[in-house]
Amino acid sequence: MKKLSDKIARIDSLLRDYYGEPPRKETPQKPLNVLIGTILSQNTNDKNSWRAYKNLRDRYKTWEEVRLAPTEEVMEVIKSAGLAKQKSAAIKGVLDELYAKQGRLDLEHTRTMSDEDIMKELTSYKGVGVKTAACVLLFSLKRNICPVDTHVNRTVQRIGLTKTGQPDKTFYALMGNIPEGLAHSFHSNLILLGREFCRPTAPDCPHCPLLDVCAYKEKNMHAGPKKFPYAGFLLLDKI
Ligand code: SF4
Repeated sequence: MKKLSDKIARIDSLLRDYYGEPPRKETPQKPLNVLIGTILSQNTNDKNSWRAYKNLRDRYKTWEEVRLAPTEEVMEVIKSAGLAKQKSAAIKGVLDELYAKQGRLDLEHTRTMSDEDIMKELTSYKGVGVKTAACVLLFSLKRNICPVDTHVNRTVQRIGLTKTGQPDKTFYALMGNIPEGLAHSFHSNLILLGREFCRPTAPDCPHCPLLDVCAYKEKNMHAGPKKFPYAGFLLLDKI
């Protein structure tokens, strides 16, 4: 039987054949920026969370200003992302905790830490879960880590890469099994696949680039003509 890492390499290659290499910034944003951007992206779409992130950066010059701003004011600034009360509390909580620990607001110390230790530290902040922490590792620190959101979780289960069920369990099942350098394309292209073909209901299996290798027993082979390709953007490559 093929190793999980070999299967991931095969799926990644097929997805890159179809979607190409996802664009990536040469100099990624700082880890704290990506952490806050990812908190804003929880439970909403990229467009709304991007607007909230941009509003936040336009309204305050520094994270220190955000830390000191009244919570109601921050809630108003980020309201386009939804769940403004929880998200402002999480953002201000992280900033307060960082300030109390190190007297400055950054996560630069994570650059020299192991993946495991960064995950442990970031998930210790209230409102920061496994997926949010993993986004910082992949998008800011360029680690070979695949964050698992609802699209990634659904698609890897259906394809047959894991049988873990829950996103956080899937994340840890994949961690350490992704061939070096493939996590960014694997993650980004699985999200595109999950939005375009492998939708929660009525997946478009006949047109899916993974049809021949997918293990999903309940493939939907009755999908109509192919819809327009997905034309959105992935938020964390934009921040
Ligand atoms: S063949 Fe169907 S179930 Fe399998 S990955 Fe493609 S869309 Fe999803």
